[in-house]
Amino acid sequence: HLRPEQLDAFWMPFTANRQFKQAPRMLTRAEGMHFWTDDGRQILDGISGLWCCNAGHNRKPIVEAIQRQAATLDFAPPFQMAHPLAFELANRLVGIAPRPATPADPSLDHVFFCNSGSEAVDTALKIALAWQRVRGEGSRTRLIGRERGYHGVGFGGISVGGIVSNRKMFGTLLAGVDHLPHTHDLEHNAYSVGQPEWGAHLADELERIVTLHDASTIAAVIVEPVAGSTGVLIPPIGYLQRLRDITRKHGILLIFDEVICGFGRLGAAFGANRFGVVPDMITFAKGVTSGTVPMGGVLVSKQIHQDFMVGPPGAIELFHGYTYSAHPLACAAALATLDVYRDEALFERAASLEPVLARLAHGLKGRPHVIDVRNLGFVAAVELEPRAGQPGARAFDVFLRCFEQGVLVRTTGDTIAFSPALIASETDLERMITTVSDNLAKVD
Ligand code: PMP
Repeated sequence: HLRPEQLDAFWMPFTANRQFKQAPRMLTRAEGMHFWTDDGRQILDGISGLWCCNAGHNRKPIVEAIQRQAATLDFAPPFQMAHPLAFELANRLVGIAPRPATPADPSLDHVFFCNSGSEAVDTALKIALAWQRVRGEGSRTRLIGRERGYHGVGFGGISVGGIVSNRKMFGTLLAGVDHLPHTHDLEHNAYSVGQPEWGAHLADELERIVTLHDASTIAAVIVEPVAGSTGVLIPPIGYLQRLRDITRKHGILLIFDEVICGFGRLGAAFGANRFGVVPDMITFAKGVTSGTVPMGGVLVSKQIHQDFMVGPPGAIELFHGYTYSAHPLACAAALATLDVYRDEALFERAASLEPVLARLAHGLKGRPHVIDVRNLGFVAAVELEPRAGQPGARAFDVFLRCFEQGVLVRTTGDTIAFSPALIASETDLERMITTVSDNLAKVD
């Protein structure tokens, strides 16, 4: 039991506890679909921890793999040495990455390992800038993100991120960053309904930016296939394909940030697989180890890798890497996690339960305060009308009530997100949605 002054030493600005000046909710144990609090309450986890524990909590094969690895090889210095699991894991990841559908599509054959989503994003942006120089296009320094994009908290990630509040206290950050418009539009956002003209229209904004600055100044575009933590924003049909076409036409790299979308969240290995669009790089983290040992990484195309390896005379070497790149514990955790995904066919399971989650989520339409419901794969969201003058407060009230009733969901602004582990039963899904539904009627 901690004294109040001990609670101050741990500085974690984002937590709801601090934001709303409440005592932290302490979790002490987890298993499967549940957390347990320090006062012994069982909480149904409707958000996979933080969009990451996709295989469920404390899965035995993953726990055992981590334990075995910790007792065998705790660390291998990545700048001097290697260890076999790093190669095994890289190959496994390449094996589930989207395959080129046309000869023009990149082949994602290489993996750069790091330790988080933020590091993965900064790594991908650095690779993009360095690659443009390697191939003699050093004037391509501009980066393009998207409004309401979230790409972590590294210098690159917040610069290309589209959340002003995450960025404004830090000054200039990266210069030469532009943002595409977000794809959230209450009239047009339903992926399943299909709005190809709207998708093309939104993506064509990239053409406008290219015209404005000239393609010869632009290095890369980064987007989440589905923007997760800013409210589960599903792109209209045709949007990502059109971004692919435009970037290819102008020699601009396309990066998918799949830190949330990867590892089954959209009912496929990656969002790229689900949407049938192959980018030049994919960033990943979270689900790669099902939230156990921190790990992130970037899937990189054959072309990019090759150009670094056999670049023109005088080509710059990519100077980038982390002490904990391909850490043995993370590799062991990831390999065991990929085994669980495969052996239990969890990506397929998420795809087959998508209609159930969709039906339950869309059942929230017409409930008090609800202005929109969105879903794709094993992620869904319900957006509430904000309470006048108190943005986010209504959704947070619902969140708190749900937590008190033993169900953890996530709020972002006035959107409540559902992102359960891929092992969730229909009963779990039902309880998660019903608890939110009941509480919608109880908040003002
Ligand atoms: N990119 C995306 C799309 C994310 O959702 C997140 C985290 N929610 C990140 C990057 C940053 O990941 P991390 O918190 O592991 O640094």
